[in-house]
Order: sequence, then C-alpha cells, then structure tokens
Amino acid sequence: MSKFWSPFVNDLVPYVPGEQPKRAKLVKLNTNENPYGPSPKVLAAMQAELGDGLRLYPDPNADRLKQAVAEHYGIQPTQVFVGNGSDEVLAHAFNGLFRHDLPLLFPDVSYSFYPVYCGLYGITAEVIALDAQFQIRVEDYARPNGGIVIANPNAPTGCLLGLDAIECLLKASPNSVVLVDEAYIDFGGESAISLVDKYPNLLVTQTLSKSRSLAGLRVGLAVGHPDLIEALERIKNSFNSYPLDRLAIAGAAAAFEDRSYFQQTCQAVIDSRETLVVGLNALGFEVLPSAANFVFARHPDRDGAQLAAALREQGVLVRHFKQARIDQFLRISVGTPEQNQLLLDALSGL
Ligand code: PMP
Repeated sequence: MSKFWSPFVNDLVPYVPGEQPKRAKLVKLNTNENPYGPSPKVLAAMQAELGDGLRLYPDPNADRLKQAVAEHYGIQPTQVFVGNGSDEVLAHAFNGLFRHDLPLLFPDVSYSFYPVYCGLYGITAEVIALDAQFQIRVEDYARPNGGIVIANPNAPTGCLLGLDAIECLLKASPNSVVLVDEAYIDFGGESAISLVDKYPNLLVTQTLSKSRSLAGLRVGLAVGHPDLIEALERIKNSFNSYPLDRLAIAGAAAAFEDRSYFQQTCQAVIDSRETLVVGLNALGFEVLPSAANFVFARHPDRDGAQLAAALREQGVLVRHFKQARIDQFLRISVGTPEQNQLLLDALSGL
C-alpha cells in the first residue's frame, strides 16, 4: 500500500499466471503452450517485417489480420476485433459489455482471470456451480443476469459444450451478452463463430497462443455482431491505439493463412492427448474428458499438491490450483509424445 496509489488499487487481487521457469531442460506442461513451433510461414512473414518500416507505427486497425480472420471463418472484417492476447480482448469485453446492474454469471470452476476482471471493473459476479461431474448445466444460467461468460472447452477441466447447449444459453438470455471464450476450441470442439449471424448477443473470443503456437506473440481476437465489436473498438481506442505491433500483425495473419500447418499440428496434439490419457489411466488416474490441449486428472490415493511438487523435483512442471473442489487435480498440458512419456515415467516412479 502506498499513499500515491489510486484507492481502488488497494483492493485489487491480480491474476497469477503459471510459472515461466528460467531453468532450461524442464518438461514444461504447466501453461498449455503448444509443444510444436509456429508455422515456418509465420516466421518468414515476421522476418519480412524486420527493417526500416519499424520506425513507423503499425496499422491501428490491424486490417490485414482482421481480413485474414474474416476469410478463415467466412465472416466480415467488421465482425472481428483483435487485441494483445485474448486476455486483453476479454478485459475490454468485461469493461465494455458486462458493467451492468445485474450480476455476471460464470462457473465456479473456470478461467481464474474472470473474477480478476470483475474486481478490476467493479462487476458483481454470481458463480454457478458445475455439476458433480464438473460439467456446465446450461439450465442453471436461465436467471436474471448482466452477462454470461463461459470457456468452451472449459478451463481447467477441458470439458466441452456442444453448440446446441450454447444456443440454449443465447436463447435464454437474449438481453445480455453471452461471451464464449474459445481459447482451446481447435483441439476438439466446434466454434460458435458459426452462430454469430444468428445471435446479436454472442461474442466469441479466441487466441493464437494455443492452436497457432504463438503464446509469445500475444494476439487474441473476438468475433460477434458489429455493434459488440464497436464497443470493444471504443475501449481499445480510449486505451491504446496500437496494441498489436507490426510483427504481431504480420505473423498472426500468416498463421491464419497457413491452414495445413495448423490442421497438422492440432491433429498431432489431439493424437498425443489420447495416448497421454491412456497412460494416465494405466497409472490409476481419473481423467476428465478433454477437448483441449491439456487434461485434468486426479489420483484416488495421491494428494494433488504433493504430486505437483514431486514432479517439479523431477523436472516436470504441471499446474495445480489451490482451490475448492479441484485441489486434488493436476492440469497437465499435452506435450510431444516424448514429453508425455517423460511425465508418465516420472509419475510411475513417485
Ligand atoms: N482464456 C482461457 C480459458 C485461457 O486459459 C487463456 C490462457 N491463459 C486465455 C483465455 C488467455 O490467452 P492469451 O491471453 O494468451 O490469448
């Protein structure tokens, strides 16, 4: 606390991201990064930007990237917003679309940045418990609300809702925005972007950090009705004209243009996930059904926090949350087949 702070800073509870270790040689399965590098075409597009042009500001509207996203999904560029990681896009959505009198609804077990944004923007939240199998029950969201946010697949569970369930949410709350955070959708789900023309209250966010292997570049996006996009643009243009730099715009556009590399690497992660689940089951773990690039697993006889600490000793990082209902689980990012085997070997030696 300092006398120089704006008073509201005293009460902020910031988000704590997973560890980015300085030590090399760790098997890093704690922050859901992609084990495969970005497309060579992405790297070439970024290389081509390295030159005198860097003295100039980037395009504040990142039109080239919006065009690439629009073409990929068969939508209009006016339906696309882009930002510095989907965290920034989410922040603008909370600020611009969820500051209402009625509470924002989200699951008790979900992305832990949601309550942080509520704290930052003074939004009242009503958390809705997942069922005993850690699934979202859409009926529970048919109550007065100032917005709904769900991650699909959910994080950290990995569990997926079908588009029919998303449509139930949208129909039950036609007067508030339903934000579907699709950070992990490309690893086994169907995107709700196909529904944006039908539902003016739907906003879908995605990231290039996971399925496009660009966590280090910081690019995220939102797709929805142009009126929703305009709210995000107003906030962005009142905050930072240039959240995406020249390298990010060029690299991210190239990532959307290289469909075959994207499909290949997503499939490799999906295949690797299935093998990892078989290996974990063989060691006695219960693993929730995952449509993401991570699995959520617990052992009936082993303490989650102790397992995570023991794995760390062996040079394997996984994520553990000290949180009610899930403190016996480990969230394990899907690595390459070799990394997954190192994890399984380490676990079987504990
Ligand atoms: N949503 C969810 C559910 C996530 O797990 C993450 C990654 N931490 C994000 C959004 C944010 O990703 P990024 O800011 O890298 O786009």
